[in-house]
Amino acid sequence: MSNRRTPPGRAPSSSPGTDWSDPGPGGPREEATISTGREHLRRWIALTALLALLGIAASVASARAVASYNARSEREAFALSSADVASSLRLAIQREQDLVVTGAAFFVGKPDATNAEFQAWSRSVRALERYPELLGWGQVVLVPAARLPGMIAQMAADPSGSTAAGPIVVIPPGDRPFYCFLTVSQSRTQDETTAAPPGYDYCSGAGGALELAARDSGRSGYQVLTTGSTQTLSIQVPFYRGGVTPATTEARLEAFVAWMGVGFDPNLLIAGALQEHREASLILRFRDSSSDVQFVSGRPASGAQTLTTDLQNGWTVQTFGAPIQTGVLANWGTVALLVSGILLSLALAVLLLVLVTGRASALRMVSRRTGELRHLALHDELTGLPNRALIMDRMNQLLLRGRRLKADGAVLYVDIDDFKDVNDAFGHPIGDELLVAVAARFTAVLREADTIGRMGGDEFVVLIDDAQVGAGPDLIAERLLEAMREPFELVGVATPLRLTVSIGVATGDRGSASDLLRDADVALYEAKLAGKNRFVTFEPAMQADISRRVELEVALRDAINRGELHLMYQPIYRLADLELIGTETLLRWTHPTFGSVSPEEFVPILEQNGQIKEVGRWVLGQACEQAARWDADGHQLDLSVNVSGRQLEDDTIVDDIRRALDASGCRPGSLIIEVTESALVRNPVAAARRLTAIKSLGVRIAIDDFGTGYSSLAYLQRFPVDSLKIDRCFTNGITTSAESAALIRTLVKLGQDLGFSTVAEGVETPAELDLLRLERVDQGQGFLLSHPLPPQDLQALLAARGASVQATPDPSVPADHLSTAVISTPTNERTSTP
Ligand code: C2E
Ligand code: CA
Ligand code: CA
Repeated sequence: MSNRRTPPGRAPSSSPGTDWSDPGPGGPREEATISTGREHLRRWIALTALLALLGIAASVASARAVASYNARSEREAFALSSADVASSLRLAIQREQDLVVTGAAFFVGKPDATNAEFQAWSRSVRALERYPELLGWGQVVLVPAARLPGMIAQMAADPSGSTAAGPIVVIPPGDRPFYCFLTVSQSRTQDETTAAPPGYDYCSGAGGALELAARDSGRSGYQVLTTGSTQTLSIQVPFYRGGVTPATTEARLEAFVAWMGVGFDPNLLIAGALQEHREASLILRFRDSSSDVQFVSGRPASGAQTLTTDLQNGWTVQTFGAPIQTGVLANWGTVALLVSGILLSLALAVLLLVLVTGRASALRMVSRRTGELRHLALHDELTGLPNRALIMDRMNQLLLRGRRLKADGAVLYVDIDDFKDVNDAFGHPIGDELLVAVAARFTAVLREADTIGRMGGDEFVVLIDDAQVGAGPDLIAERLLEAMREPFELVGVATPLRLTVSIGVATGDRGSASDLLRDADVALYEAKLAGKNRFVTFEPAMQADISRRVELEVALRDAINRGELHLMYQPIYRLADLELIGTETLLRWTHPTFGSVSPEEFVPILEQNGQIKEVGRWVLGQACEQAARWDADGHQLDLSVNVSGRQLEDDTIVDDIRRALDASGCRPGSLIIEVTESALVRNPVAAARRLTAIKSLGVRIAIDDFGTGYSSLAYLQRFPVDSLKIDRCFTNGITTSAESAALIRTLVKLGQDLGFSTVAEGVETPAELDLLRLERVDQGQGFLLSHPLPPQDLQALLAARGASVQATPDPSVPADHLSTAVISTPTNERTSTP
C-alpha cells in the first residue's frame, strides 16, 4: 500500500505472446462444445446399452449351454445308473435261478430226501447265508386226490419244522383233483406270517394253473405271494427225472418229478441291485404267457426320466431317475450363472457409462469453466478489472500499435494516498468496499478505448491508447484526481471518507511494457514525495532521483547509531516586541559521502519506511534535554518539535513525549508539538484522542504548515490547538497577494476569538515582517529573523539577547527600525561544528 511503497525499479512480470483472446463464458464456441458433448453422450449411452444387451444375451446363452450340458450329463448319468441297476438285477435273477437249479439237482439225485437231509444239505451249501433274499426253499410235489391221505401222513411224519407242530390240514380246504404241497423245505424264519403252512396247496386258485403250466412248459413259473404285509416272490421250477428237461410236453408230463420252489424277498433282491443307486426307483417285472408279477421300489417323481431294460427271460426293469431339468431356470446353478452374468453385464455397462459420462461431463465442465477461469485468471476478483497479467499484455499491444501507427500511448500508474490508514482504521472489508468504489469512479471518467486495471493493493493502471487523439494523459490524470473530490459514503462508516490519489504518468515508446510501467511507477513515487494528491509525468532525471533515494534509505538505517543526525534550532520571535521567545527544532543529517541532506528529502523517506517513529523519539529526547539545559541557564524558551503523521498513528507518541519530559526534566509547558493537518486528517478521532492525551501532559499543540493541505478551519475547533503556524507561502504572499493577506487577517481574528496564537513561518523580508506585525500575527520565524542555528550558536544569541535586541512593546514602532535591529544579528545557518 502507499505507505509501504517501495521505490520503483521492480520488474513486473509480463507474458508477451500469450493468447488472451477470451470469448467469455457462454459464447458460441462453448455452445457448440456443449451440443457436440450431448451428441457424444447419446452415442455412448447407445453403445453401453448395446454392450449391456450383448452381455445379457451372452449370459442367457451360456446359462442355456450349461443347462443343456447339465441335462445331458444327468441323462447320461441316469442311463449309466439304470444300466448298472439292470445288470445287478439280471445277475441277481441269474443267481436265484442258479440256486433253484442247484436245489432241483439235489432232489433229482435224492427224490426221497427227508427234511433233515435237505436242510443239512442246504446248510452245507450255505444257501441262506449266500442269498440274504432267500426266504425259504424246498420241493413242491404234485399229489393226486387219491394219494392225499398218504401224503398228509408222510408230511406229518417228517415235518419241515417251519411251523408249529400240529395236525396238517389242507389249505384251502376242499376236494380237488390234485394238490401241491411243500414236502421238504428249509425256511429262514419259523414265522407263520412269512412261511406258508405245511398243508398249503400251492396249486389252489390261480397258482395251480401256473404250476401246471410250468410243469408242461419246463420253464419257471413266477408268482407273488402276499402274506400279511410281506410279499414273496415265488419261483417254481419243474424238474424231471434224470435232471434233464424233456423236449416235448408229453415227455415232460411223463418225466415230471416235482417243482423246486423258492421264495425270495423281492425287496432285498432289489435293494441289493440299488445299493449304489439309492435315489433311484424302479419297477421289476416278470411277464410271460402265464405269469405277470411286478415289484415296485421307491416312488418316481413326476416327470422323472425313465428307462426300461430287458433282463431277458421275461424280466424287465423300469428305472426312474430325477427329472431332467432342461430349462435355464430349472437349476440354481444356471440361474445363478444367468443372474450374475446379467448383473455383471449391467454393472459393466453402468461402469462404462459412468466413466464415459463422468469424463464427458468433466470435459463439459472444463469447457464451461475454462471461460470463467480464463476470466478469473485475467481479472481482479474484487473489482472485476483486468489484473496485472492482462494489463501487461495490453500494454505490450499498446506499444506495438504505437510503433506501427507512430502514435504514443501512455500509462497512468495510480495509487490511493494513505490507503493503509483506511484499512487500519476501518478494517479490510471497508477497505475492499472503498477499492470497488474507487474503481467504479475511475471507470466512469474514462473513455471506452482506455483500459483500467488493478495491479494489486490500492494500485491501478490506466492505459491510454493514443495519447495524441482525444484527451491527453494529463487531462485524464486530472479527471482521475477530480473523481476523488467527492467524499466516499460507505455503509457502516459514519463520516464520508475523503480520499486522494497520486498518479505517475509515462508516455511514449519503451523496450517493453515493464519499462513503461516502471517509469510510470517512478513518476508516481515522485508524486507521492511531492505531497500526494497530484500527478507527475515521468522524466529521465527522476530515475536518478530514485536511485539516490534508494541509497539514502539504506544510509539512513544507521544514521542515529553513527551519530549522523543532529538538531538545529530556529529562533521564534514575538512580533510585537521581537522578543526571542522560542525555537523550532529542525532535524539535520550529515552523511559522510552525501554530505548535508535536507529534511525535505530524508524525512519523507523516514516516514515511508516507518523509521520516523524511532528518529522522532530521538529528536524528542534530544530537544527536551536541550530545553532543560537552557531552562537551567535561566532562558525560558518555548521549544517546538515537529511530529510526523506516522508518529501520531499510535499511542506510543504520548509515552515518547512523557518519557522525554521525565528523562530531561524539561518543563512540559515549554514544549510545543507541531503536527501538520494531513496528520490529523487520516484518522481524526484517534488523532484528537492522542493530542488530548499529549495536552494533558501540559504540552501545547501547534498546527504546522497551515494553509497548504486541507486548510479546514473545522480542525481548529475539533483539536486542542494552541497555535497555528501559517505556511511560508502565505507569509511570502502577504506583500503581493490580497488573498494571502485576507487569510492571514482571518486567522489572526480567529485566533483571538478561539484562543490560539498565530505564527508566521518563513519571514524573509522586512516588508513581510512589517505587514505581519500590522496584521498582529503573534509570532514569526524566518531567515530574516534567524536561520536555524546549532545549539551553541543559539546559546550565544541567548546570552547576547538582552544587549542587542530591545523589547518593543509598542506596535506602532516602525517595521524598518525593528527589522534592522533584528537583521543586525548574524544568523545564517551553519552546519553544527561544536
Ligand atoms: P517545517 O516544519 O515547516 O520547518 C520549517 C522549515 O522552513 C525548515 O526547513 C526551515 O529551515 C525552513 N525555513 C525557516 N525559515 C525559512 C525562511 O525564511 N525561508 C525558507 N525558504 N525556509 C525557511 P528544514 O529545516 O529544511 O525542514 C524542512 C521540513 O522538514 C520541516 O518543515 C519539517 O516538516 C521537516 N522536519 C524538520 N525537522 C523535523 C523533525 O525533527 N521531525 C519531523 N517530523 N519533521 C522535521
Ligand atoms: Ca515545523
Ligand atoms: Ca512549517
